[in-house]
Amino acid sequence: MSSISTPVRTRIAPSPTGFLHLGTARTALYSWAYARHFGGEFVLRIEDTDVARSTQDSVEQILQSMRWLGLDADEGPIYQMERLERYQVVVAQLIREGKAYHCYATPEELDAMREAQRARGEKTGYDGRWRPEPGKVLPAVPEGVKPVVRFRNPLDGEVTWNDLVKGPITINNREIDDLIIMRTDGVPTYNFAVVVDDWDMRISHVFRGDEHVNNTPWQINIFNALGAPLPQFGHVPVILGDDGLKLSKRRGAVSVTAYEDGGYLPEAMLNYLARLGWSHGDEELFTREQLVSWFDGTHLSKSPAQWDAAKLEWVNGQYMKQADDARLAGLVAAQLGKRGLSVSSRDKLQAMCALFKDRCATTVVLADWLAIFVADVAPLAEDLTTHVTEAVKPALAALADKFAGIDWNKTAIQAAIKETIAAHGLKMPQLAIPARVLVCGRAQTPSVDAVLELFDKEIVIKRLRSA
Ligand code: GLU
Repeated sequence: MSSISTPVRTRIAPSPTGFLHLGTARTALYSWAYARHFGGEFVLRIEDTDVARSTQDSVEQILQSMRWLGLDADEGPIYQMERLERYQVVVAQLIREGKAYHCYATPEELDAMREAQRARGEKTGYDGRWRPEPGKVLPAVPEGVKPVVRFRNPLDGEVTWNDLVKGPITINNREIDDLIIMRTDGVPTYNFAVVVDDWDMRISHVFRGDEHVNNTPWQINIFNALGAPLPQFGHVPVILGDDGLKLSKRRGAVSVTAYEDGGYLPEAMLNYLARLGWSHGDEELFTREQLVSWFDGTHLSKSPAQWDAAKLEWVNGQYMKQADDARLAGLVAAQLGKRGLSVSSRDKLQAMCALFKDRCATTVVLADWLAIFVADVAPLAEDLTTHVTEAVKPALAALADKFAGIDWNKTAIQAAIKETIAAHGLKMPQLAIPARVLVCGRAQTPSVDAVLELFDKEIVIKRLRSA
């Protein structure tokens, strides 16, 4: 069967049983970038046939995460549960053509079948008891048993495809059995619905996680049975956690939402996720536009990618440095809001972001810093002992007095500090560090005059006098 080459249409097909997983987000990103690179289209399909586990809440979360990452779909969301009739029509056609059949075996019977196979040391799988063959007499249809529909998989031959990521893959049909394509309640199974959809939606390239490699031979056989053109498949290796095990909920954050809440910037997340399992030379930092212009489906890694929280932080930190201050002010205001804090002047908040963003990996860390301006600070006991010594206390009190009489701006603040260190025979750090500890609750900050200027003068004086 030949592969279609144009037009490029890709899709992401999440199951709405939770948040958008990082692995799915990365596959979505590759599918999106591939479509954008070739001027094609990107479709969003919601695979909600697992009715018991699918929720609208999860759909909303997935859509929100896609929006946040900027993965705009040209079509969808298309819900599989709204397409039941279509799957039923296709199933009926396959049954008519002898390519699918009803199977009345009960779950208990199938358990017994597998048990017997295991006892004989055989591979377990459906034994074809309801599979029609020329001349074969099928069992009598039992009463009161609703049948499932099974696909009549070819018994011989091989399924081969040239995987966009893994290269050529061949599976012998003897390895796979007649899978259920429709359950007793008329709802299709994943492997069938996915084929009908990819066909109907004219999907040309399927990127997905490599946990689906074993499903692909069945899907290819179903495409062929339907006389549908085959898309090309690219199976992207899993993402491993820091500990080398598959990234999972138990081992840290795996949802896109967690990173949004955790103060990461979407462009950094996009950059990091894209680079995780794909490369363009040595480029570590790239824009969305560069990604689109470079991403042509090549240079996807064949081996699993390792999640590296420290690298993600570094990438985010790079984007924080470049981020527009007004935008950061909006993001950090939301973070502060979660703590019941706010900075009354947006201009001031923006100036604070400008001063602190260089040292902050995330907007959460930035909010930690900016909280010093609007919430009480609690200097560490050891900082107080080391820096706020008896010897320096008179100078701190004198500085507070001087501050009381000046206009509150950086130049005047700097002059007051200089006068105070001269009068007390101190060096700059001997006064600046204890002043930071008292006012900011930290011994290290950006330039002291620039930081103090952003405080209310009264707060600075009060904290200096608390020594
Ligand atoms: N609903 C499937 C999943 O979330 C989609 C797999 C596919 O892309 O074919 O794993």
